[in-house]
Amino acid sequence: MNEIIVGIDLGTTNSEVAVVRDGRVEVIPVSDGVRILPSVVGISDDGELLIGESAKNQYALRPERTVRSVKRRMGEFTRIPMGDKDYSPQEISAMILRRLKKIAEDYLGQAVNKAVITVPAYFSDAQRQATREAGEIAGLEVVRIINEPTAAALAYESGHEGARTALVYDLGGGTFDVSVVNLEGDVVEVLASHGDNHLGGDDFDQKIIELALEHIKQQHGVDARQSATAMARLQRAAEAAKIALSDNPFVTIMEEYLLEHQGVPVHLSLEISRGDYEAMIAPYIAETLDAIHIALSGANLTVSDIDEILLVGGATRTPLVARRLEEELSLQPRSELDPDLCVAMGAAIQAGVIGGTKTSAVLVDVTPYTFGTSAIGEMEGALYPYCFVPLIRKNTPIPVSKSEVFFTSFDGQHKVEVGVYQGEDRDALNNIEIGQFTIEGLRDAPSGNPIVTTFSIDVDGILHVTSREKATGLEYSITINNALTLLSSDKLDEARERVRSLFGEEASASDLGTENRRYRVEAAALMEKAQRLLKKAGTEDSEDLVNGIEAVREVMDEADEVLKSAMDALADLLYYLEV
Ligand code: AMP
Repeated sequence: MNEIIVGIDLGTTNSEVAVVRDGRVEVIPVSDGVRILPSVVGISDDGELLIGESAKNQYALRPERTVRSVKRRMGEFTRIPMGDKDYSPQEISAMILRRLKKIAEDYLGQAVNKAVITVPAYFSDAQRQATREAGEIAGLEVVRIINEPTAAALAYESGHEGARTALVYDLGGGTFDVSVVNLEGDVVEVLASHGDNHLGGDDFDQKIIELALEHIKQQHGVDARQSATAMARLQRAAEAAKIALSDNPFVTIMEEYLLEHQGVPVHLSLEISRGDYEAMIAPYIAETLDAIHIALSGANLTVSDIDEILLVGGATRTPLVARRLEEELSLQPRSELDPDLCVAMGAAIQAGVIGGTKTSAVLVDVTPYTFGTSAIGEMEGALYPYCFVPLIRKNTPIPVSKSEVFFTSFDGQHKVEVGVYQGEDRDALNNIEIGQFTIEGLRDAPSGNPIVTTFSIDVDGILHVTSREKATGLEYSITINNALTLLSSDKLDEARERVRSLFGEEASASDLGTENRRYRVEAAALMEKAQRLLKKAGTEDSEDLVNGIEAVREVMDEADEVLKSAMDALADLLYYLEV
């Protein structure tokens, strides 16, 4: 049997272990379906060694028996108290590494004695040396220490042809760093790095905790800080709320019997909107943007030299991060790899290279298109009813579910039409409308009645869109079965071009009225789909298809109703042939 070399991401908040087998990268589960081990170590009241989730659970109640964030202490000559004893940072880290080694051995069914371990690009020699020692104490020969941004870039780009410059933006639980790297094939060079050792998702949790404490104080006149148990519960609830806000526009923190005040139980029920949450964390994100410019100038580069932005670290799942990066750098960041796992994956790829194992590119199932809906917004300085609002961006791993809030635009509005589009254009009508439904029977309310729309794509590529009136729970939805096999953007361009040519040079599609344009774009898409089916259809069906396509083409210039009826006939035929 070949000697296995594992790749380990020994993180401040979480750690992971990965391996390359049969050319494929696998991040090894630490327990049922979970591939992340919290980097927390503790001694229970019974003297048992706790590592990972159990130690994390103990932290809030028994901080004196629990150690978090030991990575920050690596390279220091210090002793860290835990229970009745104290330990060096290397020893604490070794406990985490030993657990990962054991997890890998149980999973692989063979001994694991060698590892590649990652460290931040800014780690000094002393810190790297301490990491090596931790490995040795854990019984692992550290065959190489590599930089985290190098590992992330390898996971994203292993084997990519040609040279590129990438910005690796890494926002974890407690640390932030950004690195400018050059990549060519499997060779990665870190050109510059900058960051803040005390900035991360934990700060976002803290903002939510402060909000909850203030709310409890106002509602119940009590300071919940007095109760360690209440604080432990708030800590967990805040992190869960933060994570939920990444995919939902609202979250409600519900903690019953949080504490007692003058013999009366205190319950917490607090709704937070994504908008309010984003306002609280915006200054932190602004700091990370400043760090990017410092790293770029350190590498003697400017924003325009960057080919890619790679997102690393769990906190980059916060939508505001990608949004601000896109605004600042005019590039859509890549996030198709799990940001918690890509450093471990890269470490495993490097381990594979050292051990002589070839790795194929990391494959993930992603949506090839952007899906979204439309809303009233500003376009070219004027209000426009069909501004495209993307909910699921292309290259997002599936399954995925994302929600956004929309608001009714006039008093007493009883229904809202929800269009479902595939495409990238800011004008929804230039994208393909793949579905549409109406949510009716809304309550009598002034304008601004919130409607939450959710787009979900499951592993089979089925898109499910739901709109719900927030106040009443009234809900309408549609399912689109073949969302991932609809038109590609090239095909979309071709279709658009064909429609344009039908109207001659001067009267381009965009000169037509909105309804008018919409039908013509849809008609082109429909014909395109029919053309594709034609290749697979039998003789009799082909004839029907050709007739159907011709019938639509012939009435392209005619009134909407005429075109619509030809389109309906063709759509019926397609439906019949597809079933
Ligand atoms: P890492 O150190 O890379 O493992 O990142 C951990 C941080 O990511 C913690 O603060 C988590 O709460 C945060 N995190 C994990 N998932 C999400 C999510 N979906 N949205 C926002 N933050 C998240």
